[in-house]
Amino acid sequence: MDSKTMPYEKTSSIDGDDKHPHVWSSPEGGQRIDIGKQIFCNRSLNMRSIVAVGFDMDYTLAQYKPDTFESLAYVGTVKKLVNDLGYPTELLEWSFDWTYMVRGLVLDKKRGNILKMDRHKYVKVAYHGFRELSKEDKVATYGSTLIRDAFDEPEYALIDTLFSLAEAYLFAQLVDFKDKNPGKIPADYSRMYKDVRAAVDLCHRDGTLKKMVAKDPKRYINEDSSIVPMLKMLRDSGRATFLVTNSLWDYTNIVMNFLCGPRAVDGCSDLNFDWLQFFDVVITGSAKPGFFHDENRANLFEVDPESGMLLNTDNGTPMPQVDTALRLPLKTLDKGCQIFQGGNVGHLHKLLSIESSSQVLYVGDHIYGDILRSKKILGWRTMLVVPELEKEVELLWTFRETRKHLQLLRNKRDHIEDTIHHLQWSMRFDGVNIENKEELLAEIAQLQSQQERVRLSHQEAQRECHRKFHKVWGQLMKTGYQNSRFAHQVERFACLYTSQVTNLSLYSPDKYYRPSEDFMPHELDILAS
Ligand code: IMP
Ligand code: MG
Repeated sequence: MDSKTMPYEKTSSIDGDDKHPHVWSSPEGGQRIDIGKQIFCNRSLNMRSIVAVGFDMDYTLAQYKPDTFESLAYVGTVKKLVNDLGYPTELLEWSFDWTYMVRGLVLDKKRGNILKMDRHKYVKVAYHGFRELSKEDKVATYGSTLIRDAFDEPEYALIDTLFSLAEAYLFAQLVDFKDKNPGKIPADYSRMYKDVRAAVDLCHRDGTLKKMVAKDPKRYINEDSSIVPMLKMLRDSGRATFLVTNSLWDYTNIVMNFLCGPRAVDGCSDLNFDWLQFFDVVITGSAKPGFFHDENRANLFEVDPESGMLLNTDNGTPMPQVDTALRLPLKTLDKGCQIFQGGNVGHLHKLLSIESSSQVLYVGDHIYGDILRSKKILGWRTMLVVPELEKEVELLWTFRETRKHLQLLRNKRDHIEDTIHHLQWSMRFDGVNIENKEELLAEIAQLQSQQERVRLSHQEAQRECHRKFHKVWGQLMKTGYQNSRFAHQVERFACLYTSQVTNLSLYSPDKYYRPSEDFMPHELDILAS
């Protein structure tokens, strides 16, 4: 195919519908979906069997601008480290390179290292602060199979949300600073990580970030005019829609107003509750992933949207007050949407009359917080939003010839290696005479130097190809030529994955998503021949 777009699959139901000019009906009639906006499928999902579609908010519906939002988190964290935890004032002069860290990395808290590993948890790229570890150091530290099984909390920290990029960068800076300035930071690497984590956590909870976003959402969040049409499309197709976010109501209302509300020219508008018309249920302060455990006994409170006050409920039904005079007059919204805080998935299923968890599709950005438990424990169907994917697939397309060349180099290297082994074995067992032996030895030596040349040029070409994706960490979904640990998690836990939540509106709401055929290594050679 000579275009980076793929043919759009024609579906039957809403052909020619001009009610939704901006949504899925537009690619009908043979238009193609750009590869960066496609929805990829790991596990079959027939949208016809989905009765409710749920959304996470932060980094799913709301795409934060990392250059401003994560910088805010970085600056807030540095200030807390210096002012509250006694870190050196030099930190206040540091700056944040928001392009440096990527998702899928693992921090080795004790050693001050940042690692990227493949799907077998084999460490392929390792830095100490900002210094790359030599191959020998890397193998000596992480080469043992026993260690390879770990790489999880509490010794390691996973950089698995875009919220963690600033803390990972700051950790690397601190490691670097501590090494170069002995004695200036008494804390060991693990303690430094703990302090950074606590400071970031506080920035999220004490209003450092949220107050700034509330003042000027446009500065921190990408506008996206296709969210409302997508929600309308899903609701028009008969699906219930819900929001489950760990953010609290006041902040959720600000962000959702920004995303769904009409905007004045300056990007601001007065807060209202119009956006609630696009949801059946909104659950704030959900404390995911605990929310996905049915046995979690968190109380479900109804939220009064005007005042933000919480009201007790009995499984979602307002509880009668002992003294009726005490009951707040809950402003009834004619939008039909109920707003809650807390609770668990059992409450949500009751509120939406969900009979089977496989009827729910949940869209989130966090493998652990949104996707893993909801799919594994609960059986919800899942879609992971991976904004990095758009650029990744476009580069994959651009460098497809380079990748073919890499494959050829690998084949050549393997072929030379096999020939050398064959000659060595035949020398040992085929009884060669002295003259032949010398000839064979010369041939082997020549092949060995050729093999080394090809090995090095493959290695350099592979590195060069990775650098095109990211100057330090390479391709998000690959480590060397194997799938990265991150890719492996996406494959295992997300039924669907895509770059933006609104890509849903490029497909029919009745779409049958089917995965591509699986291939075992023994099938690939046959198919390629
Ligand atoms: P969600 O993705 O919509 O569920 O919301 C994520 C919420 O978690 C946002 O309000 C974030 O500010 C918040 N958050 C992200 N990282 C941290 C943290 O490290 N500590 C506390 N809150 C966090
Ligand atoms: Mg999120």
